[in-house]
Amino acid sequence: MATATELRSRVSKLMPQAHADLAALVACQSVADPRQFPESECLKAAQLVIDKFTEAGLRDTRLEPTPDGHPSVFGHIPAPDGAPTVLLYCHYDVQPPLDPTGTAWKTPVFRLTERDGRWYGRGAADCKGNIVVHLTALRALRGNIPVGIKLIAEGSEEQGTGGLEAFVPDHADLLRADTIIVADTGNFAAGVPTLTTALRGLANVTVTVSTLENPMHSGMFGGPAPDALLALISMLATLRDAHGNTTIQGLESGTTWQGVDYPPGQFRADAHVLDGVDLLGSGRVTDMLWSRPAVTVLGIDCPPVVGSAAAIPAQARARVSLRVPPNMDARRAQDALTAHLRAVTPWHAKVQIEPEASGQPFDAATGGPAYTAMSHALEQAYGRPATTEGQGGSIPLCNVLHQTFPDAEIMLTGVEEPRCLIHAPNESVDPAEIEHMALAEALFLANYPA
Ligand SMILES: [Zn+2]
Repeated sequence: MATATELRSRVSKLMPQAHADLAALVACQSVADPRQFPESECLKAAQLVIDKFTEAGLRDTRLEPTPDGHPSVFGHIPAPDGAPTVLLYCHYDVQPPLDPTGTAWKTPVFRLTERDGRWYGRGAADCKGNIVVHLTALRALRGNIPVGIKLIAEGSEEQGTGGLEAFVPDHADLLRADTIIVADTGNFAAGVPTLTTALRGLANVTVTVSTLENPMHSGMFGGPAPDALLALISMLATLRDAHGNTTIQGLESGTTWQGVDYPPGQFRADAHVLDGVDLLGSGRVTDMLWSRPAVTVLGIDCPPVVGSAAAIPAQARARVSLRVPPNMDARRAQDALTAHLRAVTPWHAKVQIEPEASGQPFDAATGGPAYTAMSHALEQAYGRPATTEGQGGSIPLCNVLHQTFPDAEIMLTGVEEPRCLIHAPNESVDPAEIEHMALAEALFLANYPA
């Protein structure tokens, strides 16, 4: 087995190859929406994934059709006797350029271009940079891999059409693994090795308040006649306390985050908070962000100011978003939000509450051998201890993987640090992140079973 020093030097020598691999992948306009880009572009990317992973030592690498019509790529190396298997996840489709005027990108969207030490192009980080991490790690090990490997590269992750999510439960034997590396996140910042261990869930509702059969003249009836908009506003106002803590009856809101610290000044800048305006909540930024429920009013239907009449609103409606932290059931949180809104409805106003489809949060198991080995590999690769962060958005696939393989350790890693501007124009990747993450993954694969 190669030593850490040997692997470091091999990965470093593989970086020109990593650049070439990434350039070829970025050149495929693999937006998985045939209304925007021809399907052949996705198939071209899929074929590249097949060819390159075959070169890197995977067998039977092939397309696997999924129910949404976009194939995933599967390949594998059987596990040596008694050794565990690691499933490597990534996706080869990308977000559209988001550039209707053709002026938002400073470099060509689908041509990998170096500028100020970073590599620019759609998908350079999300998720083709992570494909190259898997590839480079495997190349560095030169076939001398003490574990079984399986690869699943999804073809429509950015579309949210759920092809792979539907595929996984029906192909549990094909994909079964002891450990799953979901390489579609990134470090807290470049150079700060970070495992993403929590993804927030979602439990939105729409609440409609009615008080009158129709709007009534506010001069003739205002006073005793109940104002539906004011009723709604008073209900919404109970969802946060004076400090800005979310205060939904029955939901715990004092949990703290154990991983990385997010300095308030940095958060203010990242979130574009106006000077002098407070951050919310009595916890630290990371507590509020990843450990506690967070309520937001996304929209209100009521008469707009221009065009409003001197009339008492008869009905008002709001869409309320609830982000659900790990260790809280999204369905239960949605029920609590619904019960809370009913309980605070004033004046016996008529209230109707419609739940949206909820999404469970994800909480990575952090006590197992793979997690320990990956933390150690990240520390070796970066020369500093690994930390943990959460993420706002959900990755439904993680929940499907967890349900299908309840005993597998699922780890979220990748090269998508904040400066990558994933999903936005001018997406880029820091090549040092590709190098460090590839080394970490190679070290993990070499040492995990020991
Ligand atoms: Zn992604």
